[in-house]
Amino acid sequence: MNKALANMPAAIQIDGSQGEGGGQILRTALALSMITGQAFELTNIRAGRKKPGLMRQHLVCVQASQQISQAYLEGAELHSQRLYFAPQHVQSGKYQFQIGSAGSTTLVLQTLLPTLLLQKGVSELTISGGTHNPLAPTADFIEHCFLPTLAKLGIESEFKLNKAGFFPIGAGEIQIKIQPWQHQNKLCLLERGDLQRTEAFAAVLNLPEQAQIVQRELATLNNGLKLDKQQQFFLKGISQGNTVYVQIKSTHHNQLFTALGEKRKSAEQISDHLAEQVKQYLKSHAAVDEYLADQLLLPLALGQGGEFTAQCISEHTRTQAHMIEKFIDCKIEFVELNANLFQVNVYAAS
Ligand code: ATP
Repeated sequence: MNKALANMPAAIQIDGSQGEGGGQILRTALALSMITGQAFELTNIRAGRKKPGLMRQHLVCVQASQQISQAYLEGAELHSQRLYFAPQHVQSGKYQFQIGSAGSTTLVLQTLLPTLLLQKGVSELTISGGTHNPLAPTADFIEHCFLPTLAKLGIESEFKLNKAGFFPIGAGEIQIKIQPWQHQNKLCLLERGDLQRTEAFAAVLNLPEQAQIVQRELATLNNGLKLDKQQQFFLKGISQGNTVYVQIKSTHHNQLFTALGEKRKSAEQISDHLAEQVKQYLKSHAAVDEYLADQLLLPLALGQGGEFTAQCISEHTRTQAHMIEKFIDCKIEFVELNANLFQVNVYAAS
């Protein structure tokens, strides 16, 4: 152990290869470390992935966390498989972060949001990079599904997609104003309620034959699902890409499903696959999908807790629960009600 580390607070030890062994372990550790003031040492970072260690996008999460908490750091380098992080003092305020590639802006937001909403002052973040990335929430998912669900817990924010950013150029930008979390509500989302509207949105950015792509995507979705509304929306930015999403508006919850255009896939294939996901959700009686389930655990554990039903509990969600229980005094329970329906109970400490 070097001299500087010897004087540092004892750290929670985390094995990054546990569970699904991905980047979520790092982001959750950063968030919980800043919230509790507890240092951590993470080893075997992203050991479960083909290219293990810190990728650029993960490194930006570390650097952004360091900036808002003046943390002492070791191992914050590209491809590093070990990180020591000791936060000092979290400061709310205005911050700008640039990923410098198409790395996901929304995953940087996911890392910082829980800490900033627990501060006394308002924060404003501007994050540039990718806004529509595979394997991450899109800016549309954050704006129309994640943040509106958090609003039910009393979390207030204003989100804007200033520019869209697709792989590989990125250069998109999201902006968010985060208010201090003053009135914490318990979540009760066991039933999504009656289906009210099914809406589909499609957009393209700087692609040849743009108009046809969105029209074909929306037509295919309309064949597969009975749409109450279909709309093209416009994106600004310098990268190229295509995104389509469906919103299922029920009495108690808005669930969003997204897809991104891919080079070797037709507009019809993209929409068919998306429609299939939506049908699976409609067949189940769950309130939230697989992804929102893992994203809700931390806010619930930090607030008053609550309960919701989910379509499935991924390895990712289980790893997330394990990480949260490691840092804070709370209990997260998964109860299988049937093959497509799970109840999640989060008992918060407060
Ligand atoms: P790694 O590169 O190590 O896989 P990562 O940092 O890219 O890790 P994950 O650990 O896989 O990311 O976490 C991805 C996050 O993105 C999760 O919170 C998950 O809920 C969310 N996510 C993935 N796909 C979607 C989707 N289609 N809609 C909404 N959210 C999504």
